[in-house]
Amino acid sequence: MMVLYKPFSGFLTEHAVDPDKRRYILPQEGARHFIDIDHYGKYPYTDLPRKWNEAVAKFSEDSLSANGIGPWWVQIMLQRLTNAFKEKDQAKILKLSAELGHYIADLHVPLHASSNHDGQLTDQKGIHGFWESRIPELLADKEWDFFIGKAEYISKPGDFIWKRVLESGAAADTVLQFEKELSNQFPSDRKFSFEERNGIVVRQFSSAYSKLYNEKLKGMIERRMRQSIYAVASFWYTGWVNAGQPDLTKLNHTNFSPEDQREFDELNAAWNNNTIRDHE
Ligand SMILES: [Zn+2]
Repeated sequence: MMVLYKPFSGFLTEHAVDPDKRRYILPQEGARHFIDIDHYGKYPYTDLPRKWNEAVAKFSEDSLSANGIGPWWVQIMLQRLTNAFKEKDQAKILKLSAELGHYIADLHVPLHASSNHDGQLTDQKGIHGFWESRIPELLADKEWDFFIGKAEYISKPGDFIWKRVLESGAAADTVLQFEKELSNQFPSDRKFSFEERNGIVVRQFSSAYSKLYNEKLKGMIERRMRQSIYAVASFWYTGWVNAGQPDLTKLNHTNFSPEDQREFDELNAAWNNNTIRDHE
């Protein structure tokens, strides 16, 4: 599949964040990025039917949406990607691949499977970005290894993604508890540092604090990122196989249409407006 994806790695990187941008223009977007699995009793949360129709019958669509629909949305996106492969529509394949990757990666983040998603219930605000952005930005390029070998065919995508969600849900307690412990031991005047980012001075978790937290987690973040990369590659591969393995050197719609471009512009405008508002 390299013939298709390799030349577009820049596009895939850039557009992997489109689903987050869409949150600012589409009210129903937010629910697609998470599931508060702890809302459904105790591990392994058997109160919650894994099949969408059964879950709706039991809890109603509104209540499911309020607690996040991530694992179901990933399956819808896989179906859309499979259809795009069947249609041999290159622009669609690339857009959907980038976005499916986002949703899969989100579900590998423990705090995307917890109602205490930013430590707001335990006085740990900021822990979400600490785990998923600050630490990877500090360590991923320099110290982590993302060579994961080959993608594999996933015969039961639903089962696969629910397993990842249960792992995330189980890890969320550790993520929160370990930060709490470290915070209690660490000198509070050295917990944060000030750094310039894009011309703005921001307060962030200090490098010393970040590295200690990462050590305490014993490679959890790197491990989750590796699993996430494997899952994304395997879902892309699965979509292609399920579509009958179309020849990827003979696709249609190889240029993005004016409508595609309009959508990208709209997402960027929403994102930029919001970024400006955040800093006011
Ligand atoms: Zn997201």
